[in-house]
Amino acid sequence: MAKFEYAPAPESRAVVDLAPSYGLFINGEFTESQGGSAFKTVNPATEEVLSEVTDASAADVDRAVAAARRAYNGVWGRMSGADRGKYLFRIARILQERAREFAVLETLDNGKPIKESRDVDVPLAAAHFFYHAGWADKLEYAGLGTNPRAHGVVGQVIPWNFPLLMLAWKIAPALATGNTVVLKPAETTPLTALLFADVVQQADLPPGVVNIVTGAGATGQAIVDHPDIDKLAFTGSTGVGKMIARSIAGTRKKATLELGGKAANIIFEDAAIDQAVEGIVNGIFFNQGHVCCAGSRLLVQENIAEDLERRLKRRLQTLRVGDPLDKNTDVGAINSKAQLSRITELTAAGEAEGAERWDNGCELPAKGFWFRPTVFTGVSQGHRIAQEEIFGPVLSVLTFRTPQEAVAKANNTPYGLSAGVWTEKGSRILWMADQLRAGVVWANTFNKFDPTSPFGGYKESGYGREGGRHGLSAYVTTESNG
Ligand code: NDP
Repeated sequence: MAKFEYAPAPESRAVVDLAPSYGLFINGEFTESQGGSAFKTVNPATEEVLSEVTDASAADVDRAVAAARRAYNGVWGRMSGADRGKYLFRIARILQERAREFAVLETLDNGKPIKESRDVDVPLAAAHFFYHAGWADKLEYAGLGTNPRAHGVVGQVIPWNFPLLMLAWKIAPALATGNTVVLKPAETTPLTALLFADVVQQADLPPGVVNIVTGAGATGQAIVDHPDIDKLAFTGSTGVGKMIARSIAGTRKKATLELGGKAANIIFEDAAIDQAVEGIVNGIFFNQGHVCCAGSRLLVQENIAEDLERRLKRRLQTLRVGDPLDKNTDVGAINSKAQLSRITELTAAGEAEGAERWDNGCELPAKGFWFRPTVFTGVSQGHRIAQEEIFGPVLSVLTFRTPQEAVAKANNTPYGLSAGVWTEKGSRILWMADQLRAGVVWANTFNKFDPTSPFGGYKESGYGREGGRHGLSAYVTTESNG
């Protein structure tokens, strides 16, 4: 399959107005840190420094929590759901109006292709606010229990793979249910959260309802440990999730943890094979594989494995890897040098343990952090690349003979976030969905998201659900659940 030569089609970055440095967004305004320091955020595709951002201290977190508490007690916790809903609708509309600005900024700071930030991240972020705006005045009727009430102040810590979208997943349900928020974006991707602070001002949200504190792990830890936080919502690695669970054990804090995954994408012999190939590509190469629910383990029925592998490799040779701002780019930059070394280390382990490595041989830019779309065949279940989350554009291929074997292999992981099943038989889809220990099971598709649909995991993928009616319940107490 030949790759068409396309002329460069770069999106203009003129729409983004970057400040040389940013303070913290506390109580409705940008303020200087008290005792914190600063760090630089870079464009991972070029290593260009984009801006300098504050590394918030524990004293800054304390100020942010105090502002959130005042806003909760004084305004937001008393406001009617209908009025809260108006603010959420306003935020959703502003996100749509400023969509291009957000998409370009996300791509600059994260390295993801513009077609993904433009067509997935930003529209879905706006959709989350629209969806939750609709619930704000209907919580009594959402089946959450009797008299649902907000927890109060919510601490939220999010990762770098979908910076704006994860912010929306966290902030929209929290505000809809009447909570106020202190949110920390990831160290490598703080810029869209800071631009969101501008949206908060534009929407005229009362001061202190949303506070954004940038920083590294220690800032996250200060939020987790703060005694006046009522609920925590975390998305990130299982390691940090376990630390958080330990930190809050024995306290009154509620928590939801959305952690890692090692999803099986299972292809049966009767599947529509070319569609399945597209689903495999979308499952693991979307967003450079920096996706907690990525289909990183391909399980193929043995008798079609050779044919599928051939078609998959041919398809991967047509992927365009490079400038994330180019509208034709399919695979962008790895988000950070640290993540690139993690991927490099795990793929070296794959080779050392005897799996066969293949990559699409594409040219990579000289500067920045890059990794070629890679496939490992001959992978055994015990290999590190079959067990550990690589969080990069790397697929491990295993085979199976019977549905029972597929289930046993798919469930043989400490995680349980998502899975994919490809077959023509509806009854088999239902049977598989019943057997798979995964929070989300996609059938003849992969990586489909919608604000109405709950998302979350089993086992070491965490607990609690985000999205849909189930996601709302994590943000309220009721007379039945206390
Ligand atoms: P982390 O879990 O370290 O980061 C997630 C968020 O938690 C970031 O905002 C981070 O801050 C913050 N954080 C770090 N340490 C603490 C702490 N002690 N207390 C509170 N918050 C903290 O993920 P990494 O960025 O280190 O990525 C490591 C691996 O995690 C990846 O290779 C991938 O496998 C997995 N991962 C999974 C994600 C998912 O969606 N399930 C998302 C991201 C990563 P900071 O950014 O400053 O470190």
